[in-house]
Amino acid sequence: MSSSSQTSRNEWTPESWKTKPIVQDVTYEDQEHAKRVLSKLDRLPPLVSAKEVLIDNLRQQLKEVALGNSFLLQGGDCAELFDYCSQDPIEAKLKVLLQMSLVLTWGARTSVVRIARMAGQYAKPRSKPTEMYEGKEILSFRGDNVNGFDPKDRDADPERLLGAYFHSAATLNYVRSLLDSGFADLHDPSNWNLNHVRSESVRSEYQQIVTQLTDALDFMGTIGADSRQQNNNALNSVDFFVSHEALLLDFEASLTRLLPCTIPSADNKAKKEKKWYNAGAHFLWIGDRTRQPDGAHVEYMRGIENPIGIKVGPTTKPDELVELLNTVNPDKHIGKVTLITRFGAGQVEKHLPQHIKAVKKSGHIPVWVCDPMHGNTKNATGGIKTRHFIDIIQELSEAFRVHKDNNSKLNGVHFELTGDSVTECIGGSMDLKDADLSTNYQTYCDPRLNYEQALDVAFLIGKYYQK
Ligand code: PEP
Ligand code: MN
Repeated sequence: MSSSSQTSRNEWTPESWKTKPIVQDVTYEDQEHAKRVLSKLDRLPPLVSAKEVLIDNLRQQLKEVALGNSFLLQGGDCAELFDYCSQDPIEAKLKVLLQMSLVLTWGARTSVVRIARMAGQYAKPRSKPTEMYEGKEILSFRGDNVNGFDPKDRDADPERLLGAYFHSAATLNYVRSLLDSGFADLHDPSNWNLNHVRSESVRSEYQQIVTQLTDALDFMGTIGADSRQQNNNALNSVDFFVSHEALLLDFEASLTRLLPCTIPSADNKAKKEKKWYNAGAHFLWIGDRTRQPDGAHVEYMRGIENPIGIKVGPTTKPDELVELLNTVNPDKHIGKVTLITRFGAGQVEKHLPQHIKAVKKSGHIPVWVCDPMHGNTKNATGGIKTRHFIDIIQELSEAFRVHKDNNSKLNGVHFELTGDSVTECIGGSMDLKDADLSTNYQTYCDPRLNYEQALDVAFLIGKYYQK
């Protein structure tokens, strides 16, 4: 590490990113209004606790993922809208992620760590800051916490930052209450039905898992090994974490708090320590457009205790990747950083081996995840964005194979998906065609796997993943 970054390491504050170049920034016309909103945000309570983020929880679980003992499933909308903060969409998203993780756990015989792109995924980086509408140049839609999708509502409005906080809080509150009241209880198979799945083979494959699992639970109950009788809630409830892209640094800084956390020690005298956490989500990631080693986003991310993700694309140079890891994780904590590769189908062999080699040599042990969505966006007829299921599966299987060939292991997957029956990606067991896309094309940003396609992909991983 260079001596200048050594010095700046000591100088990290939740605001130190302001001294670095900021890309994908948002400018507010009324600066005073923005300041008032940010100082209100500063006072609002944390949404997640240090305990959930650190000890025994997400950091520890991701360490196990990095060591190959567990698998990471991360998924949700590309752009979450404030409107999705409503009973049905929240239940549908939670359900699809839980069902995918059940299929994965059963098929691959591995425990699964679940992180939703949810309860805060409201800001989007864009390739073009503006677009043309009725002959006029307007700002691109930057996500609900910046501006509105309606072309007449494209000015950045600071009030939306408060909207983001309260919609995150309400979403998280409902997720917690669903889980607390047994939504994920494996003893209640009615929670696990496949309401909208059309494909007979997916339904019957899934039904088989549920039947076998119910039998196994019955058996465990009979012999007294059921968790309910042991007062251990592993089967009645699950851990579920939320994440978003840390894009709007003013917002992220306002939710960055010095929180006490109990650090257990070998001599049983637990220590209390205060550290900086992003208290707005359990996990945050930096996107492919904002991961410049000397940029503001990296500067912000290096100071927080939360586990973080970095998107890795075809333009990421191996030495730049190691520099990033050294900057955000100088103590080389295992699993603190998740590298989310997104090269595109047919591109993995070209890029991934050099990344794996450089990271191995550096001594870092990250969580390696494949995002098979962002390198595979195409234009369908009429210019709408789509992704082909077959490309998604190809990139995934390439990532599994290339890791194996390079003495490494793919530790998880990152999808854009929804629990609803949208028609945004082509293919899958329901065999959606280009002409079907208009039936229920809902996304405000990138195309997502629908409920059925999400389960398809979980079955495929469950079958081919080898522990
Ligand atoms: C995203 O995850 O929605 C995204 C914009 O990804 P990337 O940064 O990999 O392009
Ligand atoms: Mn996206």
